Order: sequence, then structure tokens, then C-alpha cells
Amino acid sequence: MASDVMCCFCTGWLPEHKSVQLVVSPKIDSGESQTLYCHSRCLTENLAASVPKHPFLLDDSGAENMTGTEDETGEN
Ligand SMILES: [Zn+2]
Repeated sequence: MASDVMCCFCTGWLPEHKSVQLVVSPKIDSGESQTLYCHSRCLTENLAASVPKHPFLLDDSGAENMTGTEDETGEN
């Protein structure tokens, strides 16, 4: 049973495995962090255009192609 998470930008719900996790460290020295979830699209739309973005963020379908494509080489 998949659990849904809430997008921290638009408050829409989406399956956790399709979400982007934002690990926020408000005070780096404390070691504490908060995990937020969002749509990749919501994140890219809210980031400044000049901020470099991971390719997975730019391709909404990319996350679904992540399984079963690992190429195990070098194990000869
Ligand atoms: Zn959203």
C-alpha cells in the first residue's frame, strides 16, 4: 500500500515514490533536519531560472524509468 505525501508548494497529494524529497537543515550545526515533499514540477517552477537543476527534475517521466535499467558491468 503506497503512502501519499503532500506537496509543500501546492498542497496537492501524490504518491511518495513520485515525489521529490527536500531535506531542509534550518541550522546546519544542530544536525536537525526536516523532510518536505513536493512535485518535481512545483519545485522547478519555484526555483529561479538560473539555478541548475538535476535532470530528474526536468523530466517528469524519468522517475518511473529508474527501476530495472541498471547495467551491471565489471563483474566478469
Ligand atoms: Zn505541487
